[in-house]
Amino acid sequence: MRIIRFDSCRGARVIELASFAVVWLWVLCRLSLGQEVMDQDAKKPLKYAIALHGGAGTAPSMYPRKANEQRRASLEKALRLGVDVLADGGTALDAVERVVRFLEDDPQFNAGVGAVFNAAGGHELDAAIMDGKTLNCGAVAGVSRIKNPITLARRVMTDSPHVLLIGPGAEEFAQLHGFELVPPETFDTPQARKAWERTKRRQGEHPASNWKPKACAEDIGTTMGTVGCVALDSHGNLAAATSTGGMSNKSFGRVGDSPIIGAGTYAANGVVAVSCTGTGEQFMRHVVAYEVAALMKYRQLSVDDSVNQILTHVLEPDDGGIIAVAQNGEISVRYNTLGMGSGAADSTGRFEIFWDLSQSKPDE
Ligand code: ASP
Repeated sequence: MRIIRFDSCRGARVIELASFAVVWLWVLCRLSLGQEVMDQDAKKPLKYAIALHGGAGTAPSMYPRKANEQRRASLEKALRLGVDVLADGGTALDAVERVVRFLEDDPQFNAGVGAVFNAAGGHELDAAIMDGKTLNCGAVAGVSRIKNPITLARRVMTDSPHVLLIGPGAEEFAQLHGFELVPPETFDTPQARKAWERTKRRQGEHPASNWKPKACAEDIGTTMGTVGCVALDSHGNLAAATSTGGMSNKSFGRVGDSPIIGAGTYAANGVVAVSCTGTGEQFMRHVVAYEVAALMKYRQLSVDDSVNQILTHVLEPDDGGIIAVAQNGEISVRYNTLGMGSGAADSTGRFEIFWDLSQSKPDE
């Protein structure tokens, strides 16, 4: 009995100890599980972030579903290319150039092939790229024989002491640096020609004296838009790139905001990378890309508040759109036009394209 009692007593103590251990194990498990949940919930610093746009002034409601599907697929592919560069530890500069190059080669967009026609019936392409780490930047304007103006802009940044080269000078620089000059007709597309004919009917043949950028903005919707990309890489560097054919029926020699550093394109580490699209003259007047940075730097506004402030209080309705990524990886994508094809992704797995197919025009 004693033995039994003794044994049962020990047994009870063993059970007691065992349950104590189980309870502690359970508590520890809960704690570590809780920690995991907290880690997921807590805002981790983003390793990388990227946003792109395919031009303001266009909206899915302007096109039939098939055209919208193609456009959405291109935006998605471009964004994936950029994400791949960043996820592999590549630089923001490489990512933005790669994305913009891809969109320049796609005739659906008003950059590279597919660029709008100017009043003289030709194409004058503008592009800029900026490295937020060094504030180095390069741009080209009014080029008509360079297949990928964004790559030439990058070469101006890296291989010249200048920031902006224009027209024949930019093309001579390109040749000296091994770029192939392509025939100007390379950029022609039937959609851009159709849009130009329509714009000419609205504006007349002499846009220099009778040019209405707002009317143009409506017309540009039929030719698809300017392209741009902003990125933060895993090394903590920001970059921005923009490329465009400008605005349909623009004066020969007209340069918009895209290649103007601080107007259509800007990047500075510690602050933000910005790419704009819309009525270039407005973005130049208000130095929009830099204004986003200034509101963040001097008034400590968030990137989204800065972009929103400019689109609602500085620019006029229907002027355009802005994409921006802040140093902390926060992305802002906004516009005050009917629409703007765009996308955003980051290292948390976020991957979004903003081009709503359900708004497509019914098929004729
Ligand atoms: N901002 C460009 C320009 O004025 C046009 C556009 O973004 O659609 O040249």
